[in-house]
Amino acid sequence: MTILRPSRRDILKMSAAAPAFALGAPALAKVSAPASGQSAGYFRFTVGEAKLTVVSDGHFTSSARDIGINAEEAEIVAFMEAHFLDATSHYEHTNHVVIELGDSKVLVDVGSGNRFLPTTGHMLENLAASGINEDEITHVALTHAHPDHIWGIRDDFDEAIFPDAEYLIGATEYDWWMTDDRVNLVDATDQSMVLGAVNSLTAAEAQLTRVADGHEIVPGVTMIATPGHTTGHMSLIVESEGHSLLITGDAIRDPYVSMERPEWYAQIDMDPETTVATRKKLLDITAADRMAVLSYHFPFPGVGHVIADGDAYRFIPALWQWDQG
Ligand SMILES: [Zn+2]
Repeated sequence: MTILRPSRRDILKMSAAAPAFALGAPALAKVSAPASGQSAGYFRFTVGEAKLTVVSDGHFTSSARDIGINAEEAEIVAFMEAHFLDATSHYEHTNHVVIELGDSKVLVDVGSGNRFLPTTGHMLENLAASGINEDEITHVALTHAHPDHIWGIRDDFDEAIFPDAEYLIGATEYDWWMTDDRVNLVDATDQSMVLGAVNSLTAAEAQLTRVADGHEIVPGVTMIATPGHTTGHMSLIVESEGHSLLITGDAIRDPYVSMERPEWYAQIDMDPETTVATRKKLLDITAADRMAVLSYHFPFPGVGHVIADGDAYRFIPALWQWDQG
């Protein structure tokens, strides 16, 4: 028996011949998440000899309007809809990474623990799921002191998690948050963010090193100043055997907005002008040097490359490869 399988072209031909059967406008091809039961908590890849494991802390949503406060609302809505994204709420992943190089295991940022949002705070459980023991972490590099990056630094007894690790943060970043009476120098809406940063940095004080631009944590892993999002924001560069990766933190925050509209800045970006200048510089360098990038808030696992596209850029995600070992 022959089974007839009309192709879409056949159907279109049919519908052209018989308008009564015309197809409706194609449905918006947006995909939604299942209600529960889906988890991709870690992802491994390599850069030369460096072994990297992206470890998720979870996700949260922010206002899509706030991601481009210097853009017209209609522009943002059109941009989001053109990219099949929600026009009102912005879904943000939180991608930590452990860099294994030589005898060191460097974790970037510590997530928000149980102090921020119910959808975040999963870093430790996903680290365990990845097979990395907490005791093996030798260094913790902090990109900046916002809640989603640092509030998980202390346990319920106010002691730093990873008690044997060295913590590193930009001296400029540390000094900004720890300035006397900073809490009364910011808007009322930002006061809880300041108190959280101060409590977090204080908990790790004994193990904390304040670093400058170009600080090499271990050979092949360097912290660089990428200010704007916060005053002392830092990113990391991993280099091994001629390959390199930029770990952006929040200096590049969205795979579409930050690349295609690099001049848009967000409500949370402390210094808008510097944010945009830093972002463009990083995009120029990564595109020209063909460096890989890993961003904290990109869709998990957040790894890929940047290509120049006229006056803007495009993100090419790395191909997910199954670990069949
Ligand atoms: Zn962030």
